[in-house]
Amino acid sequence: MTVVTGDWLTNPATQAVFDALVAAGIDGFFVGGCVRNALLGAPVADIDMTTSATPGQVSTAAEAVGLKVVPTGIDHGTVTVVSGGIPHEVTTFRRDMETDGRRAQVAFSASMAEDAARRDFTMNALYADRRGAVTDPVGGLPDLNARRVRFIGDADARIAEDYLRILRFFRFHAWYGDPAGGLDADGLAACAAGADGLAQLSAERVGAEMKKLLSAPDPAPAVAAMAQAGILARVMPGADTKALPVLVHLEDGAGFTRRVACLGGEDLKDRWRLSKAEAAEIALLRDLIGADTGLAEIAYRHGADAARDVALLRAALFEQPLPDGMQDEVATGAGAVFPVKAADLMPEFSGPALGAKLQELETRWIASGFALTRAELLG
Ligand code: ATP
Ligand code: MG
Repeated sequence: MTVVTGDWLTNPATQAVFDALVAAGIDGFFVGGCVRNALLGAPVADIDMTTSATPGQVSTAAEAVGLKVVPTGIDHGTVTVVSGGIPHEVTTFRRDMETDGRRAQVAFSASMAEDAARRDFTMNALYADRRGAVTDPVGGLPDLNARRVRFIGDADARIAEDYLRILRFFRFHAWYGDPAGGLDADGLAACAAGADGLAQLSAERVGAEMKKLLSAPDPAPAVAAMAQAGILARVMPGADTKALPVLVHLEDGAGFTRRVACLGGEDLKDRWRLSKAEAAEIALLRDLIGADTGLAEIAYRHGADAARDVALLRAALFEQPLPDGMQDEVATGAGAVFPVKAADLMPEFSGPALGAKLQELETRWIASGFALTRAELLG
């Protein structure tokens, strides 16, 4: 028998949720990411639970022992039980009724097997009881051990139910797949065959999924596979994958906007419903990659992070080493404070002329490597 454990499982606050369910005669299981990640030795971010009881029964049981219940997704059977400040998403077993390629209509079920069958990948359909004993209704453990992301049931059919699963296939491979091995051939072929269906998805869902994919420690092999299968061109037209592996090799931790800037692509703000800030950051990085602006000036004008990003991007895209003394250059620019104030130039200058003069002095000061003093600039 496979048993999973970890602080997230033994935590008294989490066990208290099970106590509440047991007191009401309700079964409960951990499911999904927490079980999968704990088995892989990866960090557990959030706790999903599942039960044959209805959301109403779960709420009554939790409230009876004084736990707070938030009806976060009553329509699809989810309530969040907060214990010790930790949210526990408890979702009633479900089975798919109707699917339209975007969202499944679900019905409650009393059967774990039915609940497992509607999930996407075998490694995402592992259940554990409160002591960590694992139940594996669809053969996920061997796949997890081989780090193989495999669709539950017929891959083509599962994709036609919800085309987001195409992107999830690559996302989960990026995070949990075998870095040395390829993607599951069946799944990959089904994704390629179903690629037209991606057009049905909302920009929000595509963007959220691509963000998770590109935030993996090394998304490059999955992204290359997406390009080869004709998926990337649909969700990120104009993207070029060539420099991404080099960037990932050079960088020190994931950076979503930096990686997007490395790939390129058109209209991502709309296609992925990016925030204004993200879209602006990506556009700035794209502009600066090919500009002849030095790193110190970039750090001065846009901050140290932007300057480091540009250095990494230039190195990756132009196949150059990172510049020597890069850290010093960035630190100098980021810490520099322009020593001249508007008041220093008044009343001699005013209006647009004042702005122009300030800019001229700032340009000279930057060109001097931030060395010219206030007196030198005004003198
Ligand atoms: P993480 O939260 O770490 O990204 P996760 O496995 O918890 O990983 P979620 O997207 O939170 O991923 O989904 C929780 C579970 O719900 C999954 O493990 C899977 O079993 C199921 N699931 C989520 N989205 C889908 C989908 N589109 N089709 C089928 N099953 C899904
Ligand atoms: Mg989750």
